[in-house]
Amino acid sequence: MNDSKKAKVCLQRIVNLFKEGDIPKALAIATIPPQADIPSAKWSWGNKVLQFLADTSDARGFRQWEQACRKVNKGAKAFHILGPKARTIKETDENGQKTEKVILTGFFAIAVFRAEDTDGEPLPYEPASPPPLADVAEEFGLSVSYQTFASGHYGYYQGKSKRIVLATHEAQVFFHELAHAAHHRIAGKLKGGQVPSQEIIAELTAATLSRLYCPEANLGFSYEYVKSYAKKSRKSIERACLAVINTVGKVLDEILNTHLQLKEEVA
Ligand SMILES: [Zn+2]
Repeated sequence: MNDSKKAKVCLQRIVNLFKEGDIPKALAIATIPPQADIPSAKWSWGNKVLQFLADTSDARGFRQWEQACRKVNKGAKAFHILGPKARTIKETDENGQKTEKVILTGFFAIAVFRAEDTDGEPLPYEPASPPPLADVAEEFGLSVSYQTFASGHYGYYQGKSKRIVLATHEAQVFFHELAHAAHHRIAGKLKGGQVPSQEIIAELTAATLSRLYCPEANLGFSYEYVKSYAKKSRKSIERACLAVINTVGKVLDEILNTHLQLKEEVA
């Protein structure tokens, strides 16, 4: 594919997004200022949307990754963003003064790679050490990656691609996503979206694990979270919790037994 074709593909993807009405979500994410000082923070809105479509929050060119002491993994596929194609023209104005003017003549495609497809020195928005129970996620076959969006509590678990994506270093958010994954393993499948019972199971598990591993964690958030989902299912918070308490026990077992087994293997 030549450059101008690639550029057209980029533009088409943005236009399709408009057509499908997916803009609000893309717009919201593309306009959240990233926590870290990374190249794409300075990109145009359109390029940030292309980055969003490529399912990453940090894409850079091959050289830029080299400068950050990271290598693009073998076989990783680039996606393209658009750079303005400009030409300088010389003009003589009515006073006979010679001036130079830069005019936009089109766009060219710039190949960039996702942070998730690189390896090397730690990224500025990654925590210095993995969260407690990261070994369990690994044993479950999950990848855990960090994105740059600054948001108090934000993360997701994607069963199909077996991954957890986090936008915060708070262990509690990781525990919540890990709980979804463990619940998925026990139940065989989960319903898509934010299902109240699933959310309450995940957050009760996360609150319990936080008690065990991060005693300083503030559980006020968990309470509000569970309360809001209890309300959605028209139950009191006590009732909503009691309805899922056995499943929460099983989810905790799944996580903690896996952790224990791994510890024994090391010892
Ligand atoms: Zn959740």
